[in-house]
Amino acid sequence: MKVTAFSNNLFQLTRLVAFNCYLVREDDGFTLIDTNMGGQAQAIMQEARKLGLPITHIVLTHAHVDHVGSLDTLHEALPDVPVGISERDARFLTGDKSLDASEPQVPLKGGYPICKTRPTLLLHEGDRIGSLEVIATPGHTPGHIAFLDTRDRSLIAGDAFQTQGGVAVSGTFELLFPLPAFATWHKGLAEESARKLLALQPSVLAVGHGRMLSQPQAAMEHAIRVMAQTLAKEERKQPHVA
Ligand SMILES: [Zn+2]
Repeated sequence: MKVTAFSNNLFQLTRLVAFNCYLVREDDGFTLIDTNMGGQAQAIMQEARKLGLPITHIVLTHAHVDHVGSLDTLHEALPDVPVGISERDARFLTGDKSLDASEPQVPLKGGYPICKTRPTLLLHEGDRIGSLEVIATPGHTPGHIAFLDTRDRSLIAGDAFQTQGGVAVSGTFELLFPLPAFATWHKGLAEESARKLLALQPSVLAVGHGRMLSQPQAAMEHAIRVMAQTLAKEERKQPHVA
């Protein structure tokens, strides 16, 4: 895997140009954010070893296949390491793809594989994993979460945004890298979540697909404007129901 350091605390691990997971350094070890696609467990553990610390936590931004693909293999190798995911997306790992009555009743998109690993941390807005604060960012998936490093306001945003093929809110169609758009459940919620992340004034935007972007405010604002225009256009196309 290709390793890119943003700081002493934040390392991006990339597979096949556009598929990222992250190591966040704490005093006693790394928190691994997402597990990439399948077959990457050994490479991820090797990179952590090279950087000199064990993996002490595994957390997931959401339950899509390119983020949980190596979860079971990592969990087998590191059975004592706690595994965290939002309580909402944890259901997908068991194969339960039902929607709650309170959620928009639109079909799920993207691959949600069944995993053997049972998460030990069911995460909610405001929870802390070491230096990381959990930010609820539904839209790309119903239980999508992002992580804000409270030390330096680095934002690991999962698929709430993408930077591959252009900076975009997930759900905006980017011709050069349309995968996150195809996999986004609810664009309206994704837009709301994107605004919430912008309001955090992150120092760097680190996403599931694409390069890390420092001082990302202007690019995030632009991406949100584009998404808002797309949504307005789609609304105009909806037939009015009397
Ligand atoms: Zn995704």
